[in-house]
Amino acid sequence: MSSLETRYLAVCERIERACRRAGRSPGEVTLVAVSKTFPAGLVAALHELGHVDFGENKAQELAAKASDLPDTIRWHAIGHLQRNKVRDVISFAHTFHALDSDRLAVELNRRSEAAGRILPCLVQVNVSGEATKSGLDPDAVHGFVDGLAAFASLRVVGLMTLASPAEDPEDVRSEFAVMRRLADSYRGAGGRLEALSMGMSHDFEVAIEEGATHVRVGSAIFGER
Ligand SMILES: *Cc1c(COP(=O)(O)O)cnc(C)c1O
Repeated sequence: MSSLETRYLAVCERIERACRRAGRSPGEVTLVAVSKTFPAGLVAALHELGHVDFGENKAQELAAKASDLPDTIRWHAIGHLQRNKVRDVISFAHTFHALDSDRLAVELNRRSEAAGRILPCLVQVNVSGEATKSGLDPDAVHGFVDGLAAFASLRVVGLMTLASPAEDPEDVRSEFAVMRRLADSYRGAGGRLEALSMGMSHDFEVAIEEGATHVRVGSAIFGER
């Protein structure tokens, strides 16, 4: 077995165990394999093992890899996006995880409509409050999501966050719990925010225990960057 396959299967097993601890079905959690900075050949190798969902944080790198690789791969654009790179996301991404401004929503909607597609989007939330991070303040999420209803070519499917960097993933459990409550409160209000994209290599198990539906895992699968 290749080291890639060994690491991949270990991550899948950890996801299953976290689901079991939380009384959830592993089918509720999508593993997004984050391939940023790693060569397309490794993506192809993992895809050949049957893995479908891959994530990239830069639109150009996503476009380059998607152009080279089979279209049976489902690409997730997971990073902050500048408006001049929207075209790459519309052309190649299945889902966009980092919607964080009205101006970006306008451009994504305009180009999705022109391409004749509906773009599933997750709204990025800055749950840790760090000044360096993208994303909306938790208090601003309801108003922002309500406003997105006007964009017919965007479908808001959930929320996304990056937790604070922490030695011990238990230290960010409360941040994941805030996200969960935010999504739940919106559901109560009649909205549909089913997806929760949270958890990376060092904290995905805690994120799953707190309700993540998408974990974005890079280095635990592909190796250190
Ligand atoms: C790089 C990245 C990840 C994955 O990080 P790892 O620590 O390698 O698992 C997840 N989400 C985003 C937005 C990223 O940029």
